[in-house]
Amino acid sequence: KRTRALCSMTESVQVALRIRPLVESEISRGCQLSLDTVPNEPRVQVRGTDRAFTYNFVFGPEHSQLYIYDSAVKGLVARLFKGYNITVLAYGQTGSGKTYSMGTAYTGDGDMGVIPRAINDIFDTVREMANWDFRIMVSFMELYKEQLYDLLATRKCAVDIREDGKVIRIPGLTEIEVSSVDDTTRCLMQGSSCRATGATAMNTQSSRSHAIFTVTVHQQSREDENLSMTSKFHLVDLAGSERSKKTKTCGERFKEGVDINRGLLALGNVISALGEEGHQKSYISYRDSKLTRLLQDSLGGNSITLMIACVSPADYNLEETLSTLRYADRAR
Ligand code: ADP
Ligand code: MG
Repeated sequence: KRTRALCSMTESVQVALRIRPLVESEISRGCQLSLDTVPNEPRVQVRGTDRAFTYNFVFGPEHSQLYIYDSAVKGLVARLFKGYNITVLAYGQTGSGKTYSMGTAYTGDGDMGVIPRAINDIFDTVREMANWDFRIMVSFMELYKEQLYDLLATRKCAVDIREDGKVIRIPGLTEIEVSSVDDTTRCLMQGSSCRATGATAMNTQSSRSHAIFTVTVHQQSREDENLSMTSKFHLVDLAGSERSKKTKTCGERFKEGVDINRGLLALGNVISALGEEGHQKSYISYRDSKLTRLLQDSLGGNSITLMIACVSPADYNLEETLSTLRYADRAR
């Protein structure tokens, strides 16, 4: 019943394009802009061509973290408390602004991204919903070379996915019960500091892994003991989408690139299948990667997915930017 109401109210897959500003080094190298936004339309134009793409939202370099959160994410947090599973994914090449936008590497100051803002909203909502009891749990995982790691374990360790009927379970995964904003941001910071990073020719801070921060909300009505809900909020900072040749990878690094692409490819296929009218869940190939298996019960069905496609505005990145624009276009 809930699912049917959802379809008429909100699209189950939404795409926001975010174009970051030129960074210092690009300005000093004299980089030119490759994209133009269209005023008052969620549309982007590739400069000097007639190629244009339309999404649910298009955010330009002038748009703040707050504006993006309020426009595209805040409403989803409200849905979480109505029982929907919510997934927010940041996609894009290394250096395009995924971690900045998600706030995965939050350190307690600076202009906050999506995760710390969502954490604040979650606890504001909990305070407002006085007729409910809550249990809020946090987990934080990293998916690296098709291997899943628990970032909140005392010592970072490998975990595995099990399917229990329709429910995805990860035996042994650390789930920390949190009761405040501070508790939750502490988990975010702790896990984030354990994330694997690898140096490539493109960006020494380049992260070759997917980071999945999950908040599970259990709510129980105080007025009706039969009324309870559990919903999951996945916030995913995906691995860089660049193809391995661009990062001049070889040996170990090259294998990482190949495996990462498998997850992003499978994700693209699942999300684009979900966007098709009258799709049948049984035909969606969640099994093609650990990323899609992991998110299986939060993509499609009783859930809403927002993909934030991050791109660089600089001309030297145009090839990767076009690849992201096309990937995001398929998802819509
Ligand atoms: P990614 O996670 O995709 O590799 P980052 O989030 O690390 O990329 O961003 C790369 C650089 O660009 C960082 O120095 C970051 O602070 C900066 N940056 C990204 N997006 C923005 C933005 N919207 N405004 C200002 N700086 C940004
Ligand atoms: Mg990053």
